[in-house]
Amino acid sequence: MAGASDDRAAPRAPTGTRDVLWPESWRFETTVARFRRLVEAAGYGLAQSPVFEYASVFRRGIGDESDVVGKEMYEFEDRDGQMLALRPEGTASVVRAYVQHRPVLPWKAWYMAPLLRHERPQAARYRQHHQLGIEALGVADADLDVEVIWVAHAFMRDLGLTDYSLRIGSMGDGTCRPPYLELLTVYLDAHRNELCDEHHERFRANPMRVFDCKRPECVAVTAGAPKLVDHLCDECAAHFQRVQGGLSSLDIPFDIDPRLVRGFDYYTRTTFEFASGAIEAAQNALCGGGRYDGLVEMLGGDPTPGVGFGMGIERVLVACDAEGVFPVDPPPLDAFVVDVTGGDAGRDITTRLREAGLAADRAFDGRSMKAQMKLADRSGAVVAVIVGPAEAAAGDVLVRPLRAEGDQEPVRADDVVDAVRRATRREDET
Ligand SMILES: [Zn+2]
Ligand SMILES: [Zn+2]
Repeated sequence: MAGASDDRAAPRAPTGTRDVLWPESWRFETTVARFRRLVEAAGYGLAQSPVFEYASVFRRGIGDESDVVGKEMYEFEDRDGQMLALRPEGTASVVRAYVQHRPVLPWKAWYMAPLLRHERPQAARYRQHHQLGIEALGVADADLDVEVIWVAHAFMRDLGLTDYSLRIGSMGDGTCRPPYLELLTVYLDAHRNELCDEHHERFRANPMRVFDCKRPECVAVTAGAPKLVDHLCDECAAHFQRVQGGLSSLDIPFDIDPRLVRGFDYYTRTTFEFASGAIEAAQNALCGGGRYDGLVEMLGGDPTPGVGFGMGIERVLVACDAEGVFPVDPPPLDAFVVDVTGGDAGRDITTRLREAGLAADRAFDGRSMKAQMKLADRSGAVVAVIVGPAEAAAGDVLVRPLRAEGDQEPVRADDVVDAVRRATRREDET
């Protein structure tokens, strides 16, 4: 609390959050750009929604008993007395936007959103993290589940990841899940005393969540429990079969995991999760998703099927580091302009280069040649464009390679754009 209460201390980012600065931020934005290219080429359009919603959107959509809403959601009353919540997950907001605006179905949307949860601070878990996701509404066809899984797979492959696996399961639907839940409840009741402290009493509220419990007692009990994938109705079983057939046809390897249940109430039928083999098992989930045919109705719309996924950017980048792929390598500037004649030439030449589409920067404050050349070197620019008194008098500039062998050449100041283009093209070829 010292940082918060001491007005004189320099403020720091809040506990559990972090700043992302250049060049790491370049990698972050490149991740988003690559995702955008992939999903827009597959017919998904950007959906932007507020970072906060009325709290009821998440309470109704995710469910009060989930950890996300019950323990982690930032919920507060604003100055008008409205109960608001910072978005703790991506799907409910997008679906709320669908219900409100009624875009034509099928509707395929993608998003990049900060998610905010009051999590216990620990390595690689942040109270604000960033998620890439897609949501596709209006189609019950299992081939859309396959498409959504393919998008996640194709994206991770595009980043260079190879060490990951896919697990799939089915949550059934309103026909087969209720009788299964009765069966499961009877089983858990018979083994009640073997369950962990938390689930000993609480299993009745949502018995499937016991499959999610990592404590050895619950893992042991659920190992022998009836599995929903063995009790699907004919329609759900056929849907699950078609998902598997589609994945096989697209050469996407998968395992069926009867324990894979999602923590949110709105999931139906397909669930899936990609996990990295390169990072610690407790935090190796890269992407989770599934079908949520009940969510639109829960948020006040007409019954509308939907399927989607969310993928944590920070987690994916940890996996990239662990596999040594997708390195940080920001593109260099084309030119850095060094002007020791007062700054007018530096200002004008830098602007001309930029208006011609070249990447250029310069020094300010009339610093010495030595100081400006140091900045030019540090900038990573391909060439320095130098204006000294002799060049200024002759109407010339010097173009000096900074990252390769070669002599500096004088060129007419009027030709500086072409000269920098030539020099940077030559660099590209070596
Ligand atoms: Zn438990
Ligand atoms: Zn069913």
